[in-house]
Amino acid sequence: MAPSISTNKSVHDLPTPEPESPVRSRKPYKFSTLCATVENPNLKDQYGASSVPIYQTATFKGMAGEYDYTRSGNPTRSHLENHLAKIYSASHGFAVSSGMAALDIITRLVRPNSTIIAGDDLYGGTNRLLNYLRNNNGVTVHHVDTTNPSSIIPYLTPEVSMVLLESPTNPLLKIVDIAKVSAQVKERAPDAVVVVDNTMMSPYLQRPLEHGADIVYDSATKYLSGHHDLMAGVVVCNRDDLAKQMAFMINSVGNGLSPFDSFLLLRGVKTLAIRMDRQQTSARLVAEMLHGFGFNVFYPGLDSHPDRDIHERIADGTGAVLSFTTGDKGLSEKIVAGTRLWGISVSFGCVNSLISMPCVMSHASIDPATRAARGLPEDLIRLCVGIEDSEDLLDDLEHALFEAGAIELSTSTEQRYVRAKPRAMDPISRAVEKLAEDLSSIGTKRPKENREWLVSAPGKVILFGEHAVVHGVTALAASVDLRCYSITTPRHDGKVSVHLIDVDDFRFEWKLEDLPWDLTDGVAPGELHSDTLDQKVIDGILKRSIPDTASSKAKNASLAFLYLYMMLTHGGERPSFNLSARATLPIGAGLGSSASFSVCIATSLLLLHQRISIPPIPEPSRSPGARSSTDPGHVHVSHQGRRAIPPEVAEEVNRWAFVSEKVLHGTPSGVDNSVSVFGGALAYTKSGFVGKKGGMEPIQGFKSLKFLLTDSKVPRDTKALVAGVAARKAKNPETINTILDAIQSISDEARRALADPELERADLLAALSALINENHAHLVKLGVSHSSLEAIRAKTASEPHKLSTKLTGAGGGGCAVTLLPDYLEQANLEKLVSSLEEDGYGTYLTSVGGSGLGILSPYNRDPESHLDDGPVTPPETPALGDSPGTEDGAGLYRSHRAVFESKSPADLVEWMESRGRWLYV
Ligand code: PLP
Repeated sequence: MAPSISTNKSVHDLPTPEPESPVRSRKPYKFSTLCATVENPNLKDQYGASSVPIYQTATFKGMAGEYDYTRSGNPTRSHLENHLAKIYSASHGFAVSSGMAALDIITRLVRPNSTIIAGDDLYGGTNRLLNYLRNNNGVTVHHVDTTNPSSIIPYLTPEVSMVLLESPTNPLLKIVDIAKVSAQVKERAPDAVVVVDNTMMSPYLQRPLEHGADIVYDSATKYLSGHHDLMAGVVVCNRDDLAKQMAFMINSVGNGLSPFDSFLLLRGVKTLAIRMDRQQTSARLVAEMLHGFGFNVFYPGLDSHPDRDIHERIADGTGAVLSFTTGDKGLSEKIVAGTRLWGISVSFGCVNSLISMPCVMSHASIDPATRAARGLPEDLIRLCVGIEDSEDLLDDLEHALFEAGAIELSTSTEQRYVRAKPRAMDPISRAVEKLAEDLSSIGTKRPKENREWLVSAPGKVILFGEHAVVHGVTALAASVDLRCYSITTPRHDGKVSVHLIDVDDFRFEWKLEDLPWDLTDGVAPGELHSDTLDQKVIDGILKRSIPDTASSKAKNASLAFLYLYMMLTHGGERPSFNLSARATLPIGAGLGSSASFSVCIATSLLLLHQRISIPPIPEPSRSPGARSSTDPGHVHVSHQGRRAIPPEVAEEVNRWAFVSEKVLHGTPSGVDNSVSVFGGALAYTKSGFVGKKGGMEPIQGFKSLKFLLTDSKVPRDTKALVAGVAARKAKNPETINTILDAIQSISDEARRALADPELERADLLAALSALINENHAHLVKLGVSHSSLEAIRAKTASEPHKLSTKLTGAGGGGCAVTLLPDYLEQANLEKLVSSLEEDGYGTYLTSVGGSGLGILSPYNRDPESHLDDGPVTPPETPALGDSPGTEDGAGLYRSHRAVFESKSPADLVEWMESRGRWLYV
């Protein structure tokens, strides 16, 4: 017998309370009425049973009946499927044995060797099944950030047979614009099927078929059943062709839902709307309570959610799952263990409230590096709100928070509790708290930050693995000794200003009170910035604070600066100062100029907001006469000065520099800012590729190498170049995969050589030269070179230099890197450089693998007594032209800032270094 296809053609023609008449139009029933009313005119019960009976039978007698064998069809299941299609307003509905069984049936529509595009933050079981398809069916799976619709576009090729979405995501409640993504898919890859996992919302709150999806499925184990007493999956769609294929598969593999579970699920669905209403109302109260205490809460129902507008456009409610961070994993564990009503359990959707810590429970199978790369905080607590009385739920949670020490009694009359100051938490919070305690103990307020801060951070060069990195190949990146430098000088007029010397000499100042403070309270110390930017704040700054006349580069840079400034202001003081920044790096040539700028502004702002502090470090023991007392003791940009900045400070800077990079670039990998903060060299592999461990690893023992960087000055579009390679791969997967494999082995070989302490330097240079040539040839085959880069390569390879050069970064213009062997004669190098300059290229001699972030120490030290004199270096210099002085022997006292801004790039480095004692990461 043919498998059953439940059709719901009658859904648009349901009986109404009264017949339609010229004076009374037909009104469709509301959702909760549909839920509670199980009716199917085509399946009348012979005895008029009010509840659908359980047809607990495997076989049916007779030859001409509608049913013969339960695998193919069963009346209890048919009732359920018809009901599900009805509440989803779908033409077809299927009930199978679990949510994963539903996805299994759906993915059987995927053609072998075709491509699936899926989110990068999916339910773990979904990832497991996709990995299986990748490993066994030759299917290519691209995990992309579907919360950013434009990130999907480069992958929408004719090979794509399925796009798999989940919204909101679990447990960070990120939102996908299902309507926008579906429209993009229909336009660019019309044969691809858009599939949505709707488990978090249920059909009551979200019906993606109405927004362009082709197939929707739910783990009915969750809200649809509501009681955690059965496993089930539901699939609905409107397309007859897809329904036919899926019905065939369900009958073939035999995972249709059993009669007893169909009965239970049908019973559960009847109360879906009423349960959800109650759960959602309580969830909102819980979210508001936690938000009110000052926790970072992820819930699309809060104004603070960055994509609330998108969610409201697509869904009818915000659901009953939320999550929040406490700033401390141990504290989170105490809270979870301290609740009584909230059961500690994975899963969600039950009438009982559940609490869990995803990183130690449901997401523990994902390795910590990948969790970190996905921005999943280790201290995250997920709450799945049930139908208990909300007062009891709030009370129980409040009690657990109080007992754990996460909240404390408030002195205000408006609120009983407030969030306790982060205590015994990460080292930075500890340091911040310690500072506050010290100051309160002497009865003063924290003094205003009133110093100048001089900061510098390096650019980077990608030595191997560019482009291929997008496809899971390891890239090797190293810091260069070309850097961005910044100086902040205090102001006392309630204004903040920037002067970006290399960005069209852009200067602007803002009155602090004019910034859009109504849009954010900032991020509390000890809290992490959410992994998505606060779009409202971005829009607010752009609209209200950025001058229209600025160039797009100046707009972006000041947006990043103001965004960080506002996010780092939380309840406290708003520091007033000027920041001037400039670089010895070429801007926009792929050498990490933006990341080094991001690191400089993040560091300066963290210092000015007193979120990081520089501990006075003990002087290394000195033998008498080793240094004269006039020697500032500064450390050169080299390996020796490392580790004077504590790792927790470096990590905090890196997190905020990454936020700035997001403002500047949308979806950066994080490599550039990491190299800029930590210096040296690192190997980076994108996460989400089978058999590869994603994440960043420093290359220990990296030997400093000299390179010539040649800027072709040809502008290029990185996104288009990356998309070009992706398109070539989609068209010719075999050829391109062979190239990618070859690049991986080059990258592995280079990494081994660079870290090998036994390898003679001459052998290392010879090996790297060969690998550079090989890697460049592959990049040419990927189609990302450019005639100007080939000309640079030819010139460096010609007699007498015979040097190896490859393009670096995106290619298509930008920079080339040439390895300079130790034996190269200075005269020859000079000839080569001037010949390249004559051709119109920019040249930069650099060594790679040096120090990361540097901060000029604010401490002066009495060399005799070994006691700190206090924070006097660098001194606060008077405003420009204030008083006569001796600086630079110019007859006029010139502030540090004035000199900083006027030095030639060649003199700047030396002048900065001679300011005092530099501390490096
Ligand atoms: N999709 C999501 C979002 C889920 O949370 C789950 C289970 O937790 C599934 C699918 C898989 O459903 P099941 O466990 O019913 O197979």
